[in-house]
Amino acid sequence: MTAWYAAVDLGASNVKAVIGDSDGTVVSRAGRRTPHGPDGDAVVDAMVAATQEALSDADVTAEEIVRCGVGSIGPLDKAAGELGRSANLGPNVDRVPLADPLADLLDADVTVVNDANAGVIGERFYADRSPDDMAYLTISSGIGAGVAVDGRVLSGWDGNAAEVGHFTVDAGGLTCGCGADGHWEAYCSGTNIPQHARYVHETEDVPTGLPLDEIDAKDVFAADDEDPLAGRVIERVQAYNAAGVADLVHAYAPLVVYVGGAVARNNPEQVVEPVRERLPELVMTNVPEVRLTTLGDEAVVRGALAAAITASDSSRRR
Ligand SMILES: [Zn+2]
Repeated sequence: MTAWYAAVDLGASNVKAVIGDSDGTVVSRAGRRTPHGPDGDAVVDAMVAATQEALSDADVTAEEIVRCGVGSIGPLDKAAGELGRSANLGPNVDRVPLADPLADLLDADVTVVNDANAGVIGERFYADRSPDDMAYLTISSGIGAGVAVDGRVLSGWDGNAAEVGHFTVDAGGLTCGCGADGHWEAYCSGTNIPQHARYVHETEDVPTGLPLDEIDAKDVFAADDEDPLAGRVIERVQAYNAAGVADLVHAYAPLVVYVGGAVARNNPEQVVEPVRERLPELVMTNVPEVRLTTLGDEAVVRGALAAAITASDSSRRR
C-alpha cells in the first residue's frame, strides 16, 4: 500500500498544494491565488480548497494521508502552527491558523516550516548529493534563507532563524519593509528594487527613461543594457547580493548555496552568476558552490512534502 503525503506552500501570491508518495514523487498539483483579505479565514479556505482538489485529482482520500507539510511565509508561531500578522497578506489578515485546519481535513499530523527552511529541506531531500552543510537562498518579493549546519536544519525557537534578508549591508541606508535601515532586502528584493532605483536616481543623479513611479523589478532587469539608471541599479544589486551571500557564508559555512525565488529564477545571469563570480574576493573561508535551485517554482511545496516525509520517518524511528 502506498503511503501518501500532502503538502501546501502558502506564499504571498499563490497557494499550492501537492500530493506525493514517500519517494517524494508528486502525483497531483492544485493552486489558488492567495487571498489578501477580507480575513485569515479566506486564506484557510484557499489552502483547504487547493488540498481537496489535489487529493481528488490524485484519487487519494484524506484517510490515506500519512502526514502533511506546510511551507509558509513568515512570521510563524511554530508552537501554535500559525502564521502571525504578515505585511504580505494585506492589513486585515491577522493570524492564519495553518496546522489545525489541515489536521482536521486530513486527520493527520501537520509539520509547519517557514518557506526558506522548506527550500533547504527540499534541496537536501531531492539532490543526488546533499552535504550536511548547505543553504537555500530565496530572492523573491523578500529575501530569506534556510540553512542546514552539521546535518540539522536551523529553525530557532520561533522558527525564524537565518533571517538573512535583514542582514545589514549598508548601515543607515534605505529603509526596509521591517522598519530598520540598510537591510539587504531593502535593496535587492523584487518588492524593493523600484525604491532602490528611485534612491539611486536621486542620490547619484543617473539619467533614465524609465517611469520611476510605475516600474517594477522586472522593468529594471529588462532595461539593464539600455537604460543608464537600470544598469547602475542592477550593478548595485549584484554588489549587495554578493555581500549578502558572503555574510551568509561567513555565518553558516555552507558547501553549496542553492538560489531560488522568482527574482533569481527569472534573471539567473543577472542574479546568480554575478554572486558566483564575486564570492571568491569576498569570502575568507571556504567558497561554496552557488547553484540555481533544481526545484524551480516548486522548491517550497516540494520542500514541505519532503518535510512531511522525513518527519514521519523520524517519528517512526522513535
Ligand atoms: Zn529588514
